[in-house]
Amino acid sequence: MSLLEIKDLQATVGEKQILKGLNLTLRPGEVHAIMGPNGAGKSTLGYSLAGRDGYEVTGGSVTFDGKDLLEMDPSERANEGLFLAFQYPVEIPGVAGTTFLKHALNAKRRHHGEEELDGLEFVKFLRGKAKELGMNDEMLKRPVNVGFSGGEKKRNETLQMSVLEPKLAVLDETDSGLDIDALRVVADGVNRLRSPDRAILVITHYQRLLDYLVPDFVHVLADGKIVKSGDKSLALELEEKGYAEFVSAA
Ligand code: ADP
Ligand code: MG
Ligand code: MG
Repeated sequence: MSLLEIKDLQATVGEKQILKGLNLTLRPGEVHAIMGPNGAGKSTLGYSLAGRDGYEVTGGSVTFDGKDLLEMDPSERANEGLFLAFQYPVEIPGVAGTTFLKHALNAKRRHHGEEELDGLEFVKFLRGKAKELGMNDEMLKRPVNVGFSGGEKKRNETLQMSVLEPKLAVLDETDSGLDIDALRVVADGVNRLRSPDRAILVITHYQRLLDYLVPDFVHVLADGKIVKSGDKSLALELEEKGYAEFVSAA
């Protein structure tokens, strides 16, 4: 069964139609990359999946693990196992990452009728996850993302993902400040989080990212639709030819 099935998705931002009939299917275990020219609607796709205010779905359907995603509010989407890296706040002074993450994890556990973890249990769980990833959890003791480098933010995101154990992780790499180090961290994080029961969708402007990350499928999003799909060799082709053939001369 597919984990995410997007059919004929249409979405507007303001009055402007951005997604114009987008189709995409992800099965568990797969890593997909979405690439495309600037302004194509890549981030709009991510925000529409997240249910962010201001991104209005006007047509089509999204089925997530057999359920209607579009019926759910953003927190339900998270509790059902959707992880959106960019949904996490840019910076929150005074609030430690651990506090933030513990709330998110416990909300999800409550949703599934599981007992909440108390402070000590959470710290143990977090340390275990950090160890699995070969990271330390020091970063999470600092206020959320305050003063983090690009690479640190990405490392932190990987740890958040592994703690929340999402069924689907969507990463929108919009940060124009990502250096090679940060790109490697993203790729490494995605590779570590690959699992037969999880799908990962990486949205990226960076062809370079795919030098480090080997997706199972690559899609080109142009003018609000998926216009081409292929395997990782499509990324190399795009590297060479750019997006010119997908951009209308208008
Ligand atoms: P991409 O991520 O592919 O570069 P976006 O999804 O960010 O593209 O943007 C698609 C289109 O939607 C662009 O024309 C952009 O100007 C417009 N857009 C996106 N977000 C907003 C917003 N918050 N307000 C107004 N227009 C927006
Ligand atoms: Mg853009
Ligand atoms: Mg974008």
